[in-house]
Amino acid sequence: MKTTTTLNNTALTTTPMWIGGREAMASDGSTVDAVNPATGELTARFPAATAADVDAAVLAGKRASAQWKKSTPEERSAVLTRLAAVIEEHAEELADLDVADNGSPIREMRRDACMAVDSLRYYAGLTLQLRGETIPSSFDRINFTLLQPYGVVARIIPFNHPFMFAASKIAAPLAAGNAVIVKPSEHTSRSALRLGELAQGIIPEGLLSILTGYGHTTGDAIVRHPDIRRLAFIGSADTGRAIQATAASVAVKNVTLELGGKNPLVVFPDADIDKAVLAAQRGMNFTWQGQSCGSTSRLIVHRDIYANFIDTLAENIEGMKSGSPTDESTQTGSIVNAVQYDKVRSYIAIGHDEGARLIAGGQTLTEGEFANGFFVRPTLFADVDPKSRLAQEEIFGPVLAAMPFDDYDGALTIANNVRYGLTASVFTENLRTAHRFARDVEAGYVWVNEVSKHVHGTAFGGVKDSGLGREEGIEELISYTQAKNVHLNFEA
Ligand code: NAD
Repeated sequence: MKTTTTLNNTALTTTPMWIGGREAMASDGSTVDAVNPATGELTARFPAATAADVDAAVLAGKRASAQWKKSTPEERSAVLTRLAAVIEEHAEELADLDVADNGSPIREMRRDACMAVDSLRYYAGLTLQLRGETIPSSFDRINFTLLQPYGVVARIIPFNHPFMFAASKIAAPLAAGNAVIVKPSEHTSRSALRLGELAQGIIPEGLLSILTGYGHTTGDAIVRHPDIRRLAFIGSADTGRAIQATAASVAVKNVTLELGGKNPLVVFPDADIDKAVLAAQRGMNFTWQGQSCGSTSRLIVHRDIYANFIDTLAENIEGMKSGSPTDESTQTGSIVNAVQYDKVRSYIAIGHDEGARLIAGGQTLTEGEFANGFFVRPTLFADVDPKSRLAQEEIFGPVLAAMPFDDYDGALTIANNVRYGLTASVFTENLRTAHRFARDVEAGYVWVNEVSKHVHGTAFGGVKDSGLGREEGIEELISYTQAKNVHLNFEA
């Protein structure tokens, strides 16, 4: 295993987390170290929150939400709008923190803060749309619903888009009148901590807590807290299932899950091939080293066009520039940590063992500027067996698996024959094929002649082992409320 060459920087001070609007250290003084994955440098130290710290955040959240739920929709909207403006002013600095924490190129991570700003503004604009229903009952009775906040909710987020998730995922819970606790990944916590700081004086005290720490301790304590009844998790399918089980062992909780994917990109022979080749490269998100839930990591191409398609794609992929994530010209950076790096390399070995044909990448970069980081070249395997591990398992790295198909049913069988069902993409000029595929594919989000695009206001989420619940639209806002039905008799 490649290890990081961290500087022995014992003088590094601990950046505090945020509990109920106040800076805080872990109750037992324990900490987590952050390492820059591209350089191996120790960059920050922050608290590893304990169960007692979770308790303190819940207590503060309860007090604050008791007031916040009485605020008007306009007041909640104004708070989110102010926060969006402050984030926009600090976008560059926030992107720099994420680059140093997760190794993705600066020109990519810069977009994340902007997406968070858009999301905050979107939910700010929706607060007046949080409406119940009036249900006809009888002449002298009325029945209506109230959508009420939970109180204190929690969001546990992954490493790949640290700031975007931290900031955009507080928008719906706050807009709906809740207090929110955010638990960022232990690998990428700094931008979330900065969010806690930027929110001071904007978000009422106690309403937002940022708890840093490890998943099996801090995350687990959040999941187990009896007064957090609403949990939203973004991360791997295995962790998601563990969280469901733990939550259920404590109480009946509303748990939504945004999990992994092994997403198909299917190209029919009538497609605009040039566009499809570019999309296959873009959809794989090599720009984040493939570390994206929505990556179209299975490329399924009609046999008639397969050979030329994958050759052109291989050439394009080989042309991508690996480099320091801070360099503006870098197109693909460092894997996030040693564990993930070893996982990616092990899947490249598995690809060889399973008889797939490596046609691009496959190497690690270990010399010169790459010596202390986790760099793997964008990789394309051809002729992958659809039943093989390379085609079935989420790698969450820059490894694309290509395979041919012969007819519509064959393509669909390959596309659907995995445990996941997050996104899917289809390229065809035939309207009937496009509609049939969109209807038949087992995925929560489908692109036709397009890839990777998220549109605010449209519901994103997975089926099968890719998750439960929908985010990024009004559904997410409503999911942070509980409907109460009121039946009123005003008979004379
Ligand atoms: P992960 O599951 O290892 O960790 C995610 C978060 O959960 C981290 O904050 C971690 O500390 C915490 N955690 C870990 N174990 C926990 C436990 N037992 N209890 C509570 N919290 C716990 O995932 P990761 O490696 O950070 O991220 C990669 C995964 O996230 C991939 O599978 C990817 O597909 C998925 N993802 C999904 C989406 C989506 O929208 N569907 C978006 C981004 C990433």
